[in-house]
Amino acid sequence: LEGHKIVTVGELLVEFISHTKGCALERIGEFSGPYPSGAPAIFLDQASRMGAETEMFGGVGDDGFGRLLLERLRADGVGTEGVSVLPDRSTGTAFVSYYDDGSRDFIFHLANTAADSLSFTAEMLPPGPLALHVSAASLGSAPLRRAILSAADAVKGSGGKITCDPNARPQLMQDDEARGALERILGQADCLMPSTSDLDHLYPGLDEAAAIDRLVHSGAEILAIKRGAKGATIIGDGAKYDLPGHDVDEVDPTGAGDCFCGTFVALLAQGVGLEEAGRQANAAGAIAVTRRGPMEGNSGPSQISAFLSSTPAVSDGREA
Ligand code: ATP
Ligand code: MG
Repeated sequence: LEGHKIVTVGELLVEFISHTKGCALERIGEFSGPYPSGAPAIFLDQASRMGAETEMFGGVGDDGFGRLLLERLRADGVGTEGVSVLPDRSTGTAFVSYYDDGSRDFIFHLANTAADSLSFTAEMLPPGPLALHVSAASLGSAPLRRAILSAADAVKGSGGKITCDPNARPQLMQDDEARGALERILGQADCLMPSTSDLDHLYPGLDEAAAIDRLVHSGAEILAIKRGAKGATIIGDGAKYDLPGHDVDEVDPTGAGDCFCGTFVALLAQGVGLEEAGRQANAAGAIAVTRRGPMEGNSGPSQISAFLSSTPAVSDGREA
């Protein structure tokens, strides 16, 4: 991945977070937001903060939410020439509420918003070498799926790399077209970063070692397994690194996975070794969960090194 510019094609949206736990999306209550969000945007914002060269392809409306998103991405150094401002569409939105057990309920408004109405063609991609990051959740939308598959073919065709977070939500896996697109991307990917629950959804009935074996055989050279509070495991270059989780107070877990992936890929693109990139990604994910808002917990190199010297990783005696 060294020397590659990182690009994403996908949804830009703003998120509203309920302050009440439980069935808050069916009651009147207090929310905060709009928070800049969308998995590909969270990922790319973090990659840029970690010093990578980046460009985002997506759509926003000509409205306050769209301006908020563009301002945040630009302030953090993300290239936004690929973001279309669509005068006749509203910016995509999502509402989220948490339950006491940490699970969450989302309502997404993406279909027919600016988020899925982008006018992307592969000719719009900047000169290479490119690394395209695919967040699998985007493949659930037909227009985004078409754009992402054409970007992936163009990037692979010009010798570039594909990185993928196979965010394998059950709804996604039940949609034949989305599942087929995910299988195609998995076959093209050079670096895969699943969470342990993604492995269960991708390969039901297989244990972790067998699922990892399947992914390695699909052609990826680098794997990062995300384990939530238990940390992460990095596999590549004939080695395996188990990174225990950091002990933090989890305020809002949304975005931790994207922040982990953005840190990891950005560091690899700058020539950092696998173990060190994993160590910093593991810290970035832990920092991310301590802040409310999907992108608000993103961080840069100085914050990560301060965190690593003050918050040691905990290797045992704790359940995720
Ligand atoms: P997302 O909800 O964004 O899809 P994910 O399921 O892809 O997240 P997680 O495994 O939840 O990914 O989190 C990504 C990384 O963030 C973990 O591998 C770990 O490094 C860090 N992390 C997440 N939650 C915690 C936590 N409670 N304590 C410490 N570190 C955490
Ligand atoms: Mg995930």
